[in-house]
Amino acid sequence: MKNDTICAITTSSGNGAISVIKLSGDNSINICNKILQKKNLNEIKSHTINYNKIIEEKQIIDEVLISVFKNPKSHTGENIVEISCHSSTYIEKKILQLLLNNGARLAKPGEFTLRSFLNGKIDLSQAEAVADLIASNTELSHKVAMNQMRGGFSSELKELRKQLINFASLIELELDFSEEDVEFANREKFKELLSNIKLKIKNLIGSFEYGNVIKNGVPVAIVGKPNVGKSTLLNALLNEEKAIVSNIPGTTRDVIEDVVIINGISFRFIDTAGLRNTNDKIEKIGIEKAIEKAKKAKITLYLIDANQDLKEQISEIEKFKKKLNNKIIIVINKIDQKNIKDHNIQNCFYISAKSKKGLDKLQNHLSEDFQMNMNSNEVTINNIRHIEALKKALVNINDTLNGIENKISGELLSQDIRQCISNIGEITGEITTNDLLENIFSNFCIGK
Ligand code: GDP
Repeated sequence: MKNDTICAITTSSGNGAISVIKLSGDNSINICNKILQKKNLNEIKSHTINYNKIIEEKQIIDEVLISVFKNPKSHTGENIVEISCHSSTYIEKKILQLLLNNGARLAKPGEFTLRSFLNGKIDLSQAEAVADLIASNTELSHKVAMNQMRGGFSSELKELRKQLINFASLIELELDFSEEDVEFANREKFKELLSNIKLKIKNLIGSFEYGNVIKNGVPVAIVGKPNVGKSTLLNALLNEEKAIVSNIPGTTRDVIEDVVIINGISFRFIDTAGLRNTNDKIEKIGIEKAIEKAKKAKITLYLIDANQDLKEQISEIEKFKKKLNNKIIIVINKIDQKNIKDHNIQNCFYISAKSKKGLDKLQNHLSEDFQMNMNSNEVTINNIRHIEALKKALVNINDTLNGIENKISGELLSQDIRQCISNIGEITGEITTNDLLENIFSNFCIGK
């Protein structure tokens, strides 16, 4: 399988000026030569683009540009040929078929990136970042993916792992001299290294909270009594920002989450579809229902109506607050009907969801608040697989530190360190299994 030459259409289908068909493998140049009018790919220089024609039995299929990247200087480490043709479903399929007829096979999802990984061009976390980069739709998620793709935290992890391996070998060496009671691995220095690694791992784990929301959107619940204007606010937010990413059906049947990008950060507004469509018919919404919604969120927008008794509404918020730990922002709506700006309510926003007055302030607050709380550390973890491996490594580090304190045998100590080395190695891919690779790369699209 590894020696096959693979090919795929790498551009997305649909209207466009050009499409790109990519081949990677030992034979890609020879295979491509067979379908070209000028069979010159062996002679032309690597990293150049050349005009040519695709032919089938002397009939011209298309005029194309051929880019050639000869091994090992290509992103997969193999010979890569990219054919830029006119974007027509007929032409794309025809060229692909000709390549298949001449000895290439169709690439599997993520197989080009898998080859980059297997040929040592990128590590596993960088490969995963390729998928994140393609999926990124905000400035922040792009930044996190780009940072990870460029080696971000993986080079740091590799270095720490190397140092751990050194210590593990020294401790294992001691085992060979166990009768002589020698200590090759200086325990104080080792403790220092472990503490250093512990701090780094803790920082990375801490960054996940933000990495995850950057990737999936900051969850914001909009709660409040019926008719305070929750749906109107949601619609206003959606209309305000033209960049609606999608309507994501939520986990339960009646919950809909709308993603809106505000100042480069995606926010996932959580509302209940049932409330939205039948708000007039619903007589009473229990506070429990709102709590349920708010628990899923990082921020809760608690809407109240400027026309109604403010004291009563605020006291309800207080009850609500007690049951929740996350951040609550009070939003007083319908100020177009009753301007109550002078009222002494702290930390709240005055808006009219209907006329959109005050909405920009609320939006800016949401994005600024998020950015302020973000880890200033550039490196951000956004991948569940990484976070799980890091948590396991942290347990191993603590076990090792305790082991040193309690002067446990070198044999047991080395077991803990080896565990830690293996958990860190899983992130960057020094340690992998076929299942793991299958799991990661099958989530890619064909052609990536
Ligand atoms: P929900 O039940 O909390 O989702 O409330 P809706 O969004 O359905 O709004 C209830 C009613 O209040 C509707 O008739 C809206 O048009 C109205 N409404 C919502 N926001 C405003 C506002 O800012 N000003 C005014 N005047 N009416 C509003």
